[in-house]
Amino acid sequence: MLMSEKQNLLDFDNEQLVAQLKLHGHKPFRAKQLLKWVHQRGQADFDAMTDLSKDFRQFLHNDYELSTPSVLIDKTSKDGTRKWLFNIGQNNAIETVFIPEDDRGTLCISSQAGCTVACRFCSTGHQGFNRNLTTAEIIGQLWHARAALQAANPDHTDERIISNVVMMGMGEPLLNYHQVLPALKLMLDDNAYGLSRRRVTVSTSGVVPIMDKLSQDCPVALAVSLHAPNDDLRDRLVPLNKKYPLKELIAACQRYLEFAPRDFITFEYIMLQEVNDSPEHAKELIEIAKQVNCKLNLIPFNPFPESGLYRSSNNRIHRFTGMLLDAGIVTTVRKTRGDDIDAACGQLAGDIKDRTKISQKMQANKAIPIMEIRN
Ligand code: SAH
Ligand code: SF4
Repeated sequence: MLMSEKQNLLDFDNEQLVAQLKLHGHKPFRAKQLLKWVHQRGQADFDAMTDLSKDFRQFLHNDYELSTPSVLIDKTSKDGTRKWLFNIGQNNAIETVFIPEDDRGTLCISSQAGCTVACRFCSTGHQGFNRNLTTAEIIGQLWHARAALQAANPDHTDERIISNVVMMGMGEPLLNYHQVLPALKLMLDDNAYGLSRRRVTVSTSGVVPIMDKLSQDCPVALAVSLHAPNDDLRDRLVPLNKKYPLKELIAACQRYLEFAPRDFITFEYIMLQEVNDSPEHAKELIEIAKQVNCKLNLIPFNPFPESGLYRSSNNRIHRFTGMLLDAGIVTTVRKTRGDDIDAACGQLAGDIKDRTKISQKMQANKAIPIMEIRN
């Protein structure tokens, strides 16, 4: 059977859709109408788009489709956290997590099937890398989650069950920039999801040149995965540090702040017992934090069997947090949510058929004596 040659409507932001439609002689306002139907109202059936002419609907039928990855698993945790596992073909799966809180609902979205950065403490990194997600697969997670949550809460008066989006699922969003950017633009577009720039967060392990691009193209809130306060340790925990060391990363954060929607950058710092959680590390971290207007988010490590790492004890987290707070650094400790359904940070693994042999390299990397660098 021939593969469908229809294009997926979810693949295009406003500008791209205008250009597409223009090729077929349609006016720019059609793009706006379509975005409203598809993203604002969540309508997938072209025939239900009643203010479009019959001819235009026929054109849509002929050339376009609207499809999201199919759902393999849909689970809700006892704390209300909901996780979807999506099938993206060829035995690969990606995950999306919704985290409800009193004052907001946050959707955590994946950007790649696997990840090439291969951080030591990350389950996604351990899976290796298969491929970048398309824009439709990225925004499709939001499209699907919103529809599913609305269906589960038909009486919900506020349309915005999802008030915040964080690109903190599987993958490094800034290494899939061309597909992530239109998805971010759709999140912000008033005709689509209409989220403010402060409510959309990109989390990066520190892809310096693309951080600069993002500051120009679509300056949303930025979280930077720091995890270590010196290059020696960061080289081992976040291998991308060898390419973009801390000095360059800090300078990139300072540059980003000029364009950021908030006046701070969030630094994420995973708490690994006797690896990066000593008073010496806290002192080094304070020196970094003083150079960038930032908030620190300490993340208790969520263990997984292959990591060989342990979560810092509550005592050590308490002592570490105390030192940062005493130094005047705004510091929070992330609550673990959804761990009963494997939806906690770093547990998002999906099922990746590794094309890059990263998972094998990581096994070999375990020879690197990470536990010897304790103070
Ligand atoms: N690649 C991007 C975004 C996805 S990872 C990045 O690294 O920022 C999102 C967050 O999950 C990162 O801050 C990462 O540190 C955290 N994380 C990864 N593995 C984890 C684990 N095992 N326990 C807790 N948090 C983890
Ligand atoms: Fe990739 Fe982020 Fe996991 Fe590192 S922490 S391997 S950058 S997804």
